[in-house]
Amino acid sequence: MSKRVPLLINGQFVDSKSAETLPVINPATQDVLAHVPLATMDEVEQAVQGAAEAFKTWRNVPVPERARLMLRYQALLKEHHDELAEILAEDNGKTFEDAKGDVWRGIEVVEHACNVPSLLMGETVENVANGVDTYSNIQALGVCVGITPFNFPAMIPLWMFPLAVACGNTFVLKPSEQVPLTTVRLLELFKEAGCPDGVVQMIHGSKQQVDALLTHPVTKAISFVGSVPVGEHIYRTGTHHLKRVQCFAGAKNHTVIMPDADKNSVVNNLVGASVGAAGQRCMAISVAVFVGDSINWLPELVDNLKGVRPGLWSDAGAGYGPLVSKPATERVKALIGKGIEEGATCLLDGRDCSVEGLPDGNWVGPTVFSDVTPEMTIYQQEIFGPVLCCIHVDTLEQAIAVVNASPYGNGTSIFTNSGSAARRYQHEVEVGQVGINIPIPVPLPFFSFTGWKGSFMGDLHAYGKQAVRFYTETKTITARWPYVESAAGQPNMTIALK
Ligand code: NAD
Repeated sequence: MSKRVPLLINGQFVDSKSAETLPVINPATQDVLAHVPLATMDEVEQAVQGAAEAFKTWRNVPVPERARLMLRYQALLKEHHDELAEILAEDNGKTFEDAKGDVWRGIEVVEHACNVPSLLMGETVENVANGVDTYSNIQALGVCVGITPFNFPAMIPLWMFPLAVACGNTFVLKPSEQVPLTTVRLLELFKEAGCPDGVVQMIHGSKQQVDALLTHPVTKAISFVGSVPVGEHIYRTGTHHLKRVQCFAGAKNHTVIMPDADKNSVVNNLVGASVGAAGQRCMAISVAVFVGDSINWLPELVDNLKGVRPGLWSDAGAGYGPLVSKPATERVKALIGKGIEEGATCLLDGRDCSVEGLPDGNWVGPTVFSDVTPEMTIYQQEIFGPVLCCIHVDTLEQAIAVVNASPYGNGTSIFTNSGSAARRYQHEVEVGQVGINIPIPVPLPFFSFTGWKGSFMGDLHAYGKQAVRFYTETKTITARWPYVESAAGQPNMTIALK
């Protein structure tokens, strides 16, 4: 019998009382790594109430001490960087290099949280009336909640709880039930860094447990990253229960290739950006919009993609890993079939893909479609697999129109040697992250990141710099200080207003 994944309740890693479990599966082998219990409603209640109790003291811990916790945590995460990447690669399947990047991006957010005293500075105006000052303080909300997806098992939990906790909140985390093992290790290290009992709680589960958190009268703010339909449900349910909600959802990212771009740079960059991580990235490039003669580079791109093969996380020659699950694999293969059925030209078909020695892995080879039109299912749906859809247009204007008509707006990029084309693109495109001669503009915590349009719902203070605003309230105080001498007798100048 493989191990059961623990919950974290009031500082203790405990076995759930639930008999209902889901297997955590290595997607390259189908080995069962663990069983994740779906927490009982009683356990969800304990987690929330424990976090509410811990908030009473945690909110009063001096801000520099909270920053020091983050400094200790950052050091521990760096020390355990490769170990975390290995755990992550086992249950998610991504290559070791990719897994290390996943952990590193999370560490950068913890580094940002070390700066919390500066991030929490309020504002002051002295003497709004004689002897009266007004100033604002930034205060923690209370119990915050995080619900995370399978594709970044380290980075995305680390987007959420470190900053929320550094701001003085307590946190209930519900990691993806498909990849919960990395989160367990992240929280063991947080405890080791000195996080007091109850400040972060972890429960496992799916809809039932998430709904209990969304509707609980004690929870104040909900951070979600995942697919569009689930994001819409979470946004609707959370806001209906008057919570503050931010939902990072699905994507369909376009890159625009101008004929004046550097061909080698385009081809080399597009290979990794389209099929890297098996296309299971919210910032993956899934649509290439070729402008004018740049379409002539497509055969070379296809040739390069033919040379990429998936494999085990520890295989240094593998370009990417397996898809996360059997149902995800079947869905991607069905969408490829649909693309062919609906008339797109399949230049490279990855459905019949195998990896030597790993017959049970969720393998899909690199896949490329050309002649894709916006009505096709493969264009409309987020495939979340190693599939690139190609479109051909005549002008930059048409390319911008294609990108702006998409219901998604997470990331995009343009390849060009023209400053004016690049300037126009970044100015007119309706997307949150824009790369210029950079295929995937990865979000950085000292900037802000929210997708536009259907890729994001809710409070725009979502990630990084401005997330402090999501996890806090502003309180404005106007004070006539008792020890300030009366204004009587002082020169009192008034200005007559017309
Ligand atoms: P998912 O929506 O299936 O699951 C995300 C989380 O929601 C999980 O914790 C899951 O347990 C929970 N959940 C699932 N069904 C639920 C329901 N009916 N009610 C309540 N909670 C539910 O997403 P996934 O497959 O794990 O992740 C892939 C998706 O995440 C893709 O669409 C990808 O684009 C998106 N994503 C977006 C970003 C971004 O920044 N915009 C980043 C990473 C991933």
